Amino acid sequence: MVGDTPIINVSDVLEYLFCPRFIYYIYCLDIPQHEERRFKVLKGRKVHEERRINNPEYLRKKLGVTHRETSVFLASKKHHIKGVVDEVLFLEEGKAAPLEYKFAEYKNKVFETYKHQLTLQALMIQENYNIEVNRGFICYTRSNNLIKEIDIKPSEIKKASQTIDEILQIIEKGFYPNKTKHKNKCIDCCYRNICT
Ligand code: SF4
Repeated sequence: MVGDTPIINVSDVLEYLFCPRFIYYIYCLDIPQHEERRFKVLKGRKVHEERRINNPEYLRKKLGVTHRETSVFLASKKHHIKGVVDEVLFLEEGKAAPLEYKFAEYKNKVFETYKHQLTLQALMIQENYNIEVNRGFICYTRSNNLIKEIDIKPSEIKKASQTIDEILQIIEKGFYPNKTKHKNKCIDCCYRNICT
């Protein structure tokens, strides 16, 4: 908590983006999700250590990485978020960038959820290392470790801040949010019996 305001997990934001009501059920009604149901498609399974890029020379040549830190737990008092960043990359240009591994194939488009996650990580890196972050990377381990670069634009940062505010409204004020617009997500949702 910072003052009276809670610090939420980056994973909470991803849950919220999948369906805003998850936050209400988890935080306001204290009904946890069944682990196996947790928005597995979008989240992608976590990558085992051996699937990570273990070749610093490759990263140096491809992305201009001078050094990196792995599995870094960070929190942002300013933005009320916390979470683990797979890798914090420090770049030749004097900036830093998050790298997130996804056990997923690249299918011509980076999910909005992934962009949101990188944006939140960028905010935490910026605050904790006092360094500029204006891009991030997703590594698709099922596409031969294909790396996609994402610009962290001011519009993305604004969107991410709004999402955090909306989540805090639910947690702090008990606001009951709208359902997801995508009814297919309800089919195997663990809350479908109580979600009116
Ligand atoms: S049943 Fe549908 S609207 Fe309700 S929590 Fe689940 S996904 Fe969201």
